[in-house]
Amino acid sequence: MGTKNSIIYSIFVIVLIYTLSGCSNTDRLNREQPFERNDFIMGTIVSQRIYGKNAEKAAVKVVERLKEIEESMTVNAPGGEINKLNENSGKSKVILSSDSYHVLKTGVKYSVLTDGAFDVTIGPLVKLWGIYSEHPRIPAQAEIERVKELVDYRDIIFNEANRGVMLKKAGQMADLGGIAKGFGGDEAIRIYRDWGIKSAYVNLGGNIVALGNKPDGSKWRVGIQDPRGLQGAYIAIIPVADKTVVTSGDYERYFEEGGVRYHHILDPRSGYPARTKLISSTIIADKSIDADALSTSVFVMGLDKGMEFVEGIKGVEALFVDENRKIYVTDGLRKKVVFKGDESGYEYIEKR
Ligand code: ADP
Ligand code: MG
Repeated sequence: MGTKNSIIYSIFVIVLIYTLSGCSNTDRLNREQPFERNDFIMGTIVSQRIYGKNAEKAAVKVVERLKEIEESMTVNAPGGEINKLNENSGKSKVILSSDSYHVLKTGVKYSVLTDGAFDVTIGPLVKLWGIYSEHPRIPAQAEIERVKELVDYRDIIFNEANRGVMLKKAGQMADLGGIAKGFGGDEAIRIYRDWGIKSAYVNLGGNIVALGNKPDGSKWRVGIQDPRGLQGAYIAIIPVADKTVVTSGDYERYFEEGGVRYHHILDPRSGYPARTKLISSTIIADKSIDADALSTSVFVMGLDKGMEFVEGIKGVEALFVDENRKIYVTDGLRKKVVFKGDESGYEYIEKR
């Protein structure tokens, strides 16, 4: 009897210890392991990694918010405010939500700043090339000339008082494809903060936004995609905290014909995919909406103009990769960036 009792007692103690240690393990896990979630939104995979209490709830809210942004700003699906704006071009003004109004206005701001290298009314050219269609194609020169005339950010009329917006000429189209994901990234960070989260990381198809440090206090290490490598292969690492890292490249969406790569970043001046020697451009900044617009902008500008342009903006850094697999960075990034080295097949150029 006594033996049996002591066995039962022993089992009880073991179970108790197991349960207690199980509990404390779970607590520890909650504190240190991130909550991760992947979704397909805004035409790309959105990966969230969030630490701390409320991580899962915040992730759900971010997904809802990004879907809402996609719905109102997309031009690749029916409905939505920007579609409505485009359908009414040359006819009547449309009242936009504060989200769309803000993103469109920011798009115009960068169109002005870049003297039209970035042009938020690029829509008709994007449509002509069929970039988001099943059958992208090289248009005839005459078509390009005709459609190019419709691309001009100066033709957007804004009414601040009631957020009324109109495109002057029939056939004109706003396209927020070069900036909306950046706005989405900033909104994700705002939501994390609202939920009291101190450490998180979100990747919207190459637009990365980091909140705080990693939980161990070290910086997030953002890998810069190898523009000619497999997805996930990187050529350099940029350590960041409370920053965004956004890359535009000729490898994200393209088709090939006659050995030429036709990609999705268009030069509003030529009407063709931007043909500088760049194959990718990365911007590091505080706000992702700025970094997104800027990465597209400098890709169109090319290395020399792009570098000079970014060096003139406080708090913004950049990394460029050209077709000769040479990497160039702004002065402020020189000491921070970690290169993968020669085995990556890329060469870092210290001085231009
Ligand atoms: P991704 O969306 O692949 O991350 P970008 O941020 O560089 O890449 O945006 C590319 C998108 O921006 C294109 O698909 C198109 O919708 C739009 N776009 C293309 N060229 C321009 C341009 N010169 N100015 C503004 N937007 C552009
Ligand atoms: Mg962009």
